[in-house]
Amino acid sequence: MTEAKVRAFPPAVVNAESKPYWDAAEKGKLLYKFCTACKKPHFYPRTLCPFCFSDKTEWKEASGKGVIYSHSTMRRTPEPYTLAYVTLEEGPTALTGIVDCDPDKLKIGQKVHVVFKPTKEGPPIPAFAPD
Ligand SMILES: [Zn+2]
Repeated sequence: MTEAKVRAFPPAVVNAESKPYWDAAEKGKLLYKFCTACKKPHFYPRTLCPFCFSDKTEWKEASGKGVIYSHSTMRRTPEPYTLAYVTLEEGPTALTGIVDCDPDKLKIGQKVHVVFKPTKEGPPIPAFAPD
């Protein structure tokens, strides 16, 4: 695959709520949030827990490993790309992109790992690639 055919990632929207997440991405780390009130992890990270609405959420670093829960490849674009739900090893499921792969060979349950893709402006964007 040539670089010209790879879809560019749009820059991230960085705000006060998401800044720690993007600061970690700059260092190649994937963060998620864990609620100490109901003991559930969630992703994408939010200030208020999406399960119990507690503000007792804390950042945790994910291993970056996960499995594909579902995937879909957009082919009607000049540069086809694959979106997927990836269930992280820590439990939460992330809507993300699958990169560096042959989309026709992706399978549900396939192991993937996080990779960080540069953007023209802003922090690198986490995506996942097959192990
Ligand atoms: Zn909670």
